[in-house]
Amino acid sequence: MNAAPSIADRSGWVALAGTYRAFPQLGGDIRTDWLVIGGGFTGLAAARRLAELHPNDRIVLIDRRRLGQGASGRNSGFAVSVEMPGPGELEKPADRAAYLAHAAIHKAAGAEVKRLVTELGIACDYDAGGYIFAVRERAKFKALEERARVLNDNGTQAKILDADALKARLGIAFYSHGLWIGGGNALLQPARFAKGLIDNLPPQIECHENTEALKIAPNAGGGATVTLAQGSIKAAHAIVGLNAFMPRLGLKQGRVFPISLTASLTRPLTPAEEEEIGKVAPWGMLCPVEGGATVRLTADRRILMRNTAEYEPDGISAQMLEKRRAWHEMGLNHRFPFLPKDAIEFTWSGHMCASRNWSFVFEEVSPGIFAAGCYNGAGLARGTLLGRLIAEHAVGETSLLAENALAREKPSWVPTGPLFTLIAKMRLAHELRQARSEH
Ligand SMILES: Cc1cc2nc3c(=O)[nH]c(=O)nc-3n(C[C@H](O)[C@H](O)[C@H](O)COP(=O)(O)OP(=O)(O)OC[C@H]3O[C@@H](n4cnc5c(N)ncnc54)[C@H](O)[C@@H]3O)c2cc1C
Repeated sequence: MNAAPSIADRSGWVALAGTYRAFPQLGGDIRTDWLVIGGGFTGLAAARRLAELHPNDRIVLIDRRRLGQGASGRNSGFAVSVEMPGPGELEKPADRAAYLAHAAIHKAAGAEVKRLVTELGIACDYDAGGYIFAVRERAKFKALEERARVLNDNGTQAKILDADALKARLGIAFYSHGLWIGGGNALLQPARFAKGLIDNLPPQIECHENTEALKIAPNAGGGATVTLAQGSIKAAHAIVGLNAFMPRLGLKQGRVFPISLTASLTRPLTPAEEEEIGKVAPWGMLCPVEGGATVRLTADRRILMRNTAEYEPDGISAQMLEKRRAWHEMGLNHRFPFLPKDAIEFTWSGHMCASRNWSFVFEEVSPGIFAAGCYNGAGLARGTLLGRLIAEHAVGETSLLAENALAREKPSWVPTGPLFTLIAKMRLAHELRQARSEH
């Protein structure tokens, strides 16, 4: 008989972030002025802003598990200020205008993270030194020079790095071509950032964990009634920050869908391993190829490896996670051959939310029910900003940024059911195969 897999799905970031505040489960029937559903970056930002704008209103924030420990405590910690333009994305005037409109949101999102880290004094290894997009196989980095030129023309610092420059910066010889992008792009410890937001929530916000919204129904006069396992919440207004879980509550079905990612974090490097990489400064590496690996050398001298992206709407089982960890070991071995096989300390999975046209959700879905989410893998900064903006929109405040977000094309239609499962699984498996040299 095979031994049962013993791997625990445990975010290394969360495990290393220290003790979280705990909040009681909600039971009974209550009424509130405001209900925020989902305690990730979006929900935390929305609740904070509501408390600032309407300090005397009742504000309830619920999460089906622990605040800040879903994807917000499981991501790779890239706070995106500047998206890399796609090849040819800026050639047509209409595409260029769209890129620049989105660029304003990204820039503001990165700045919002920096503002909160600074004003709240959150110790999360925030590092605004930018990060690198790189490939092993040159042919896979399409339009590298064009992208560098366009970024620099638009006032973002960007620099092409050859194999020698990459080796000097990273301490490893795996990559051949790269593009460093500054302009506010930052790295941080995501769970510590989320925990800092929770620790500093305005005191009038009533937080409840292990409180799952099972059903959301619009009220006749606006707002929503949410059914819980043991009770209900009747809210005059609701803000939904559920990201990949929106469709489970019947919201944005056929528009957005979850993608399962897995990641591993090693133990800290030993002095001998530090010598192998020349004691280089912390860095973050993304791959410009869909399906390629994300890698980081963290401030506490661990290696983060993420090289899977799959359509598994029911999540990643322990057996699947065991296999994904073997893929992470392989990716580590390609880059850090001196690391022993048992260097990984934590492995975990998480859901990000995607749409076919890379658009996000930012809207009043029915009278008094607002939603923000679906950041296509870049929700650390965007969720933090759009959570704030959706709260402002919900109370009737306007801003250029909110109008920009409202005017954005909505997520386009995707089929649901077995046909979508088939297409999505095939597409993502194809991307992983195409990016094999970059694992
Ligand atoms: C492995 C991984 C790596 C990633 N890397 C990056 C990165 O480097 N940079 C980046 O910008 N983004 C990254 N992302 C994406 C990023 O984590 C998300 O975009 C971000 O967390 C979205 O924040 P959110 O608050 O909208 O949603 P979430 O963080 O998903 O929060 C939603 C919350 O809702 C709760 N919830 C769900 N259903 C219910 C319910 N029915 N009732 C009550 N509560 C409910 C969940 O428990 C969760 O806490 C990554 C994601 C993953 C999984």
